Amino acid sequence: NSEKTLQLVIVGFGGMGSYHGQLVEQAEGIAVRGAYDPIEYRMELASSRGFRTYESFEAVLSDEEVDVVLIATPNDVHKELAIQALQAGKHVICEKPVTVTGAELLEITEAAEQAQRLFTVHQNRRWDEDFLIIKDLMSQKKVGDVFQVESRVQGANGIPGDWRQLKAYGGGMLLDWGVHLLDQLLLLTDSKIESVHADLSYILGTEVDDGFTATIKFKDGLTAVIEVGTTNYIKLPRWYVKGTEGTAVIYDWDLSGEIVTRNREVEHVEPTPIQAGKGLTKTMAPPSEESTIRRPIEKVEDLSDSFYANLVSTLRGASQQAVPNHEVHRVLTLIETIFESAESNGVIIKDI
Ligand code: NAD
Repeated sequence: NSEKTLQLVIVGFGGMGSYHGQLVEQAEGIAVRGAYDPIEYRMELASSRGFRTYESFEAVLSDEEVDVVLIATPNDVHKELAIQALQAGKHVICEKPVTVTGAELLEITEAAEQAQRLFTVHQNRRWDEDFLIIKDLMSQKKVGDVFQVESRVQGANGIPGDWRQLKAYGGGMLLDWGVHLLDQLLLLTDSKIESVHADLSYILGTEVDDGFTATIKFKDGLTAVIEVGTTNYIKLPRWYVKGTEGTAVIYDWDLSGEIVTRNREVEHVEPTPIQAGKGLTKTMAPPSEESTIRRPIEKVEDLSDSFYANLVSTLRGASQQAVPNHEVHRVLTLIETIFESAESNGVIIKDI
């Protein structure tokens, strides 16, 4: 179409910055104009990808051809770079976690409002297939009314990289993977949060958390258990969902898993006792074959625009931004509350 191709510059050309290069190349209506990173070798990589290189952040901002600045630096500098870019008249995409506190995010959104420019956060895991399957399963009540959802990511490789292990850079796993899992969780229900109880782990001896477990209770009766671990040699399923009519599990990124529901056509079948350790149990015997229906996990069709397609269409005035800033702010409030709970080892009762 005849609309102008938006020109984007990648600021921070590390792992994620270079991945954004690929994402933008796959999108229509937007192109990578160049990249800036203070590390020489990163600029050589950008140059080998065919991207123009800038010698400073100020040079990016004074290039009038630049419409959008993508910030993929360590977390501690997101705020200052975002505000400067907005004040220079650029639209800004920022990597997650956008900031460490909700108050810092509000400083950015205020600057965006004043500059009349778009500011948005790359919460890319809103498009993850496993999450979309669980969202669909809950809204379609495929296991009845869900009263417990457990969402986990677990690895055995410790905290990756350098700055992620340091507090001054906004490191730690709650701010890293946690922000994704919590962002997803808040999209699974319309209910407000009633209370939070959390524990951070420091198994590796770093100054930042290497994982956490949070139990989050919602006003509508849903309880969520969210867990991130980096010392798990055996991992638990990615998703475990319990409803009044059945249970669903997704084991891994390959979407292996199943949904088991009560068969309403069959009269109650009395379970047969099983040998369990040195005793017998009827209570913990598995449900009989005939009284349950087992189905594999099936992909759901995602008709929404990709992150960049949505960005282009929003800047053309044809869509609303897919990741609204007030939703990102709510996740940061939840993260602050998780830190607060872990510090006091207490249940925090708070309307979030
Ligand atoms: P990285 O260390 O690989 O890259 C960061 C780059 O930023 C480095 O090359 C560094 O030289 C550069 N940099 C540092 N200060 C800068 C400054 N002031 N101006 C310009 N460049 C600067 O880190 P990464 O893994 O690419 O993470 C970058 C950001 O992306 C973080 O906020 C991280 O949380 C986020 N991230 C998001 C996802 C996702 O799935 N959305 C995945 C990975 C990382």
